[in-house]
Amino acid sequence: MTDATRKNPLLEGEYGTPHNTAPFDRLTLSDYEEAIMEGMRQEEAAIREITDNPEEPTFENTILPPTDELLNRATTIFFNLLSCCTSDEADKLAEKLSPLLTEHSNKILLNQKLFERIKFVKEHATGLTLEEQKVLDNAFDSFQRGGACLSEEDKKRLSQLRVELSGLTLQFSQNCLKETNAYSMHIRDRAQLAGLPDTALEAAALAAKQKGVEGWLFTLHQPSYGPFITYADNRELRRELYTAKNTICCKGGEHDNRRIVTRIVNLRREIAQLLGEDTYACHVLKRRMAETPSNVYAFIRQLEKAYMPKAKEDVTDVEALAKRLEGKDFVLEPWDYSYYGQKLKKERFSLDSEMLRPYFRLEKVKEGIFGLATRLYGITFHRRKDIPVYHPDVEAYEVHDEDGSYLAILYADFYPRGNKQSGAWMTSYAEQYVDHEGKDHRPHVSITMNLTKPTEDKPSLLTLGEVETFLHEFGHALHGIFSRVRFMSLSGTNVYWDFVELPSQFMENYATQEQFLNTFAHHYQTDAPMPSELLQRVKDSTNFQCGYQCIRQLNFCQLDMAYYDRHEVFSEDVPAFEKKVWARTRLLPQLPETCMSVQFGHIMSGGYAAGYYSYKWAEVLDADAFSLFLQNGIFDHRTAARFRHEILERGGTEPPMRLYERFRGQKPTIDALLTRNGVKASATGASKEEGKGAPHTATTGQDEKSHNI
Ligand SMILES: [Zn+2]
Repeated sequence: MTDATRKNPLLEGEYGTPHNTAPFDRLTLSDYEEAIMEGMRQEEAAIREITDNPEEPTFENTILPPTDELLNRATTIFFNLLSCCTSDEADKLAEKLSPLLTEHSNKILLNQKLFERIKFVKEHATGLTLEEQKVLDNAFDSFQRGGACLSEEDKKRLSQLRVELSGLTLQFSQNCLKETNAYSMHIRDRAQLAGLPDTALEAAALAAKQKGVEGWLFTLHQPSYGPFITYADNRELRRELYTAKNTICCKGGEHDNRRIVTRIVNLRREIAQLLGEDTYACHVLKRRMAETPSNVYAFIRQLEKAYMPKAKEDVTDVEALAKRLEGKDFVLEPWDYSYYGQKLKKERFSLDSEMLRPYFRLEKVKEGIFGLATRLYGITFHRRKDIPVYHPDVEAYEVHDEDGSYLAILYADFYPRGNKQSGAWMTSYAEQYVDHEGKDHRPHVSITMNLTKPTEDKPSLLTLGEVETFLHEFGHALHGIFSRVRFMSLSGTNVYWDFVELPSQFMENYATQEQFLNTFAHHYQTDAPMPSELLQRVKDSTNFQCGYQCIRQLNFCQLDMAYYDRHEVFSEDVPAFEKKVWARTRLLPQLPETCMSVQFGHIMSGGYAAGYYSYKWAEVLDADAFSLFLQNGIFDHRTAARFRHEILERGGTEPPMRLYERFRGQKPTIDALLTRNGVKASATGASKEEGKGAPHTATTGQDEKSHNI
């Protein structure tokens, strides 16, 4: 029976829930559909009102964003749930709505009348606050990037290039997937699989069974390839699998990506140049903390110089072990590296990720992490069972500030489910902003993870990696929770892409701090604290092969920049070009027939073109930020207050480097990361052994050897 008097809560806007939290229990799919369609209509009408306004354009009558629009409210809840609590019907509705929403936003960006008004404000507005100026710049920027400043002819060209690019990036990743799927290695003889862990054998047996064949099947997908190349004793099979993986999409035939790489690189260059930039990297980096290609090069070079000696040592160590085991004439090949590397790691640290689980009971970890936020910032977390949630597993907390005032809502969704995506992420059901009457609307933030579930006889016991994931997402959550800005589009995690991982990775530093672990990491059966000796081994093992790993990452950064920081047409042979770029810093021999570029999805079809450096960038930042805490005490309230006020509260209101310098008192340097990795002794000269069990001291980066990034 339908209730004719029932109203769509999304259209009402007032939900009658605590802090107006989303009324998950009362929303239907047709509510979302109706609200999103109506939301688009309302937004169109609002824009028409702006463009039809006969008055001279001003910030107030053109830019000032409406607050809490229906469209934003409805899409936020709907698309969030699509990732963590979906259904076939919801997926179908998303398929129906997504193209309409894309069309809707394209229509806004192509609205020439609206752009003319924004341009007028940009050229004439005076006396704007910092935040107003930033919102104005962002609005102008998105139109400019959409080609609003171009001639009709160039606009057409830009749109052709973009259509071609999106087609080719899709084809690139489909080719990778097809060639990856086309290969499998079928083993019938169990003796050939010596060395492999049971989990890998079980997965391979299952894969064979699903294909209706006897024995074991191995593929080029990481969960199958990774364990094989790391553990299989049979060298010939390792070589076979390695060669198969590293020669996909470059052997000719319909899935060859070599010509696609060339075209993608040239398309991006042409798009950037149409928009007035010299290279694609310039175009991208203008909206990044790194700002320019030369800053990225300087960054890469500094790290390379610092890590190369350690990287060579790392390779020598693995080589030495291989020779010790196999004889002095043994020549280490690329398919041997993970295998002997793993053996060396085991010999040095005898660690197993299962060993820490008993100390990381989820309930205790939660207390520990919430307690950490209380210790650092004075904030407290209060479970509220009267706040609606979208699944019984989800917990809702009211977060209070130090003075007891209401700060935010935090949802925590810990366990895997069939209708939830894998991985972990932070999101918001409502972002912070201040409305036209000056009322501060506090955010509703959510952390979603896929942690180990409790079983019938065991509580949820986490690995160290899972504890790090929790800390990571919680760090993002604090960025949302503390937000104190005026405009929603600048609040919380709405910051430059190479800055957004600072608050999250910063928190991961606590995972191996003994002082922090002592507050909660007790054995779930005996209540004994984690033994210091075990913790020290864990810490030491995290730096294992860090030189080799770093140089490998830097090689990828280098290749990325080599493709995208070009002014001229790219017409070189792709495999040869790649080998040329790596000639100077390659650590292992490379087979002539292998090629990485043709399967480097991150920079070709993913979002990392001219952005691969940001992985290392974020690492340098988080180590540098944490080093101030190591210096002042890892729970130091005053340092935390500065981190909160200068960074976590400020969102995207100012250039990130300015925010960072205000917190840190100086530009970040790579020194703290070097110290953390044990690549360079700290300024006090404390060796790793001396620092054992005590908080590390770190260089302030003010000595003449410091490296600003
Ligand atoms: Zn993150």
